[in-house]
Amino acid sequence: MDQNIEKFDLAIVGASLAGNYLCFLLANTNLRILVIEEHKEIGLPFQCAGIVSQKLVQLIDIPKDIILNRVSVAKIVAPSGKFIQLSGDENPYVIDRIALDRLFYEKAKNHENVRFYLGEKFESFKYIKDNHEKFVLLKTSKREVKAKMLIGCDGPLSLVGKILGIKNKVIYASQIRMKGTFNQNNAVMYFDPKWKELFGWIVPEGNQIYRIGIASSKKIATKFKLFTKTLGIDLKQKIDQQGGIIPFGMMNKIAFDNILLLGDSACQVKATTGGGIVMLLTCAKIAANCLIKCFKTNNFSKKFIKINYEKLCASKIGKQLKIHYIIRSLLEVFTKKDFEKFFQIIKTSKIEHLISIYGDMDFPKEIIFKLIKNPLVFTFLIRFILKDPHLFIKLLKILFKR
Ligand SMILES: Cc1cc2nc3c(=O)[nH]c(=O)nc-3n(C[C@H](O)[C@H](O)[C@H](O)COP(=O)(O)OP(=O)(O)OC[C@H]3O[C@@H](n4cnc5c(N)ncnc54)[C@H](O)[C@@H]3O)c2cc1C
Repeated sequence: MDQNIEKFDLAIVGASLAGNYLCFLLANTNLRILVIEEHKEIGLPFQCAGIVSQKLVQLIDIPKDIILNRVSVAKIVAPSGKFIQLSGDENPYVIDRIALDRLFYEKAKNHENVRFYLGEKFESFKYIKDNHEKFVLLKTSKREVKAKMLIGCDGPLSLVGKILGIKNKVIYASQIRMKGTFNQNNAVMYFDPKWKELFGWIVPEGNQIYRIGIASSKKIATKFKLFTKTLGIDLKQKIDQQGGIIPFGMMNKIAFDNILLLGDSACQVKATTGGGIVMLLTCAKIAANCLIKCFKTNNFSKKFIKINYEKLCASKIGKQLKIHYIIRSLLEVFTKKDFEKFFQIIKTSKIEHLISIYGDMDFPKEIIFKLIKNPLVFTFLIRFILKDPHLFIKLLKILFKR
């Protein structure tokens, strides 16, 4: 073993939100932390619509200037153009995502025990033994380093995950920012069977600037063009354009010997919206506690990490992510007519009001429980239940397991 190889307690791959926040949470410990990021600048490329529920401020202290806008209405548009409007106490934040990624980097980077290697690509890892102790040897584009724990915060296409045999199903996103005259208080979601797997969106950033995008599993460029054409948007007016990848599914296996996965690499993302910020911040706190325990007890086994991280994440967000996935699976088979009918039911009964009161962007269990108790909704859903009773049983199990 080369004695010149640098040795760290933790090596975090990825300095986006998950990696930076985890590093910040642990920066005040005496753990030696390395963060490896392939891009030279934190926060870039920008790839986010930046809409986050008010849980954000319960999870982190956030400077005012990171919040660009708040929306009071979620407008959900059916393929025909008919829409429902949901308002309530949620008032989601529209954030400056680049600034949020940089916030935790700035807070962590000057600690003596923390090092960031930017513009350096993680390439592979293998387990090694050193003085009878198990370590992870990482190879980057510039060097080899040794760490007791490796944390994969390397996003939807995680290489750390791939080497461990974990592969996320992904969908693709395309977004522009442009000046416009839409409503500054409305976040709009456009549902259509044409936009498979997700929806089109308009998110008001403030100052009459809007983030307009769409995500889909296939032909994203064509669908984006079609979507913006339908909205009558002149693409020449764009300020800038972003692409991006969103993991799609339920949370993966995230605990391994000397390794854990966090954030998009762990698929800690809502399948209904592609939103991952609240989920990853929640899981980062669990990961930080788990890592402190690992070093306190000198236990880095998969079993220990599973008990102190994977299971706690599953109980905090796992069931909710399953519900998001089941809702998404249902929306996947909706025809144009189904959307119309469902919207009509929501409009004509008192459900719009119910969603406004009980709707939770992140944790939908309560509202789903209330919705399927409504006879009109239940009757509408019967056809889908018969098509896939297994999925429905799964949903009932999650809802009734308190
Ligand atoms: C278009 C779009 C819109 C979105 N809108 C929202 C939204 O409105 N609300 C919301 O909550 N969520 C949204 N999301 C999801 C949210 O952005 C993600 O959940 C979040 O960014 C995940 O953070 P992360 O740190 O886990 O991963 P990422 O942000 O994907 O970061 C991974 C990091 O790892 C680095 N990396 C990868 N591989 C390597 C390697 N081999 N070596 C070194 N570095 C590596 C990358 O460069 C990157 O910096 C959106 C996503 C997209 C794509």
